Amino acid sequence: MTARRIDGKAAAAALRERVARSVAQFQGRTGRPPGLATVLVGEDPASAVYVRMKGKATAQAGMASFAHTLPETISEAELLDLVGELNGDARVDGILVQLPLPNHVDTARVIAALDPAKDVDGFHPLNVGRLAAGMDALVPCTPLGCLHLLKAELGSLAGLDAVVIGRSNIVGKPMAALLVGESATVTIAHSKTRDLPATVRRADIVVAAVGRPEMVRGDWIKPGATVIDVGINRIEGDDGNSRLTGDVAFDEAVEVAAAITPVPGGVGPMTIAMLLRNTLVAAHRRTGFEDPEGL
Ligand code: NAP
Repeated sequence: MTARRIDGKAAAAALRERVARSVAQFQGRTGRPPGLATVLVGEDPASAVYVRMKGKATAQAGMASFAHTLPETISEAELLDLVGELNGDARVDGILVQLPLPNHVDTARVIAALDPAKDVDGFHPLNVGRLAAGMDALVPCTPLGCLHLLKAELGSLAGLDAVVIGRSNIVGKPMAALLVGESATVTIAHSKTRDLPATVRRADIVVAAVGRPEMVRGDWIKPGATVIDVGINRIEGDDGNSRLTGDVAFDEAVEVAAAITPVPGGVGPMTIAMLLRNTLVAAHRRTGFEDPEGL
């Protein structure tokens, strides 16, 4: 069997089109576009690229983008002041604080200072708790994107065995909560899991979010499973050039699975699309308008 490639780029483009349509209607009703504020501290090149991509996508969707770039030396108090200002700014519906923050800043304190209604990354403890309790929440963008791809591929996930490899607060744990919410039977595996290959072999759905290139081998995959590869790893190829690869050995798994996301072009594009979606949802909730696209 050769697995179907799940096209995250196409799914993200379709979602972004729906967001853009809804943004235009929001502006027509409220007289202003939904707004996303980004906060970048320091000069980490990868973080700068991510924030630039997010700002560009925000503008392309017709939303207002408020970019705040702060020096590495900024104090925690100054950063908290900025968060307070953005919380109170009526034009701002979503606030994204790009992580990681410098060591002298308490990241948990900054996240906790965000207005949970504007926490479009879904990292505030209130949103984490609401997701865990099965209540309406702003949900982290990457796992939300994975769930979108899974439902588009499989329809109902009820009763399916899912294994999530990785238990980070950003991907693994919220992914597991979302899958439980869809009535899948969920196992969370991590670095202390005893027999990872055997655990993965039971799964109808595998979500790999580890950060170890091609760790999940083809013979770990149950024939016919759906595989979502969240990993983004840069490795050196045989030709000496560097390339991106996932946490799954794609060439092996594609021969066993029913469907699989490639890296790049799978989960990655969905993350930004979901950030736009979350900003739109936050804007509608804050203003009390109904989203005509039902996003
Ligand atoms: P993380 O915080 O480093 O978490 C990695 C998880 O993998 C941990 O729970 C760790 O277990 C587990 N792990 C490590 N080695 C393992 C092993 N040998 N066997 C089983 N589990 C193991 O990483 P993350 O932030 O969740 O990100 C994971 C990957 O996704 C990275 O490659 C990252 O670049 C990528 N990512 C992609 C996107 C996207 O938009 N596509 C977004 C976010 C992240 P312990 O908890 O026991 O240490």
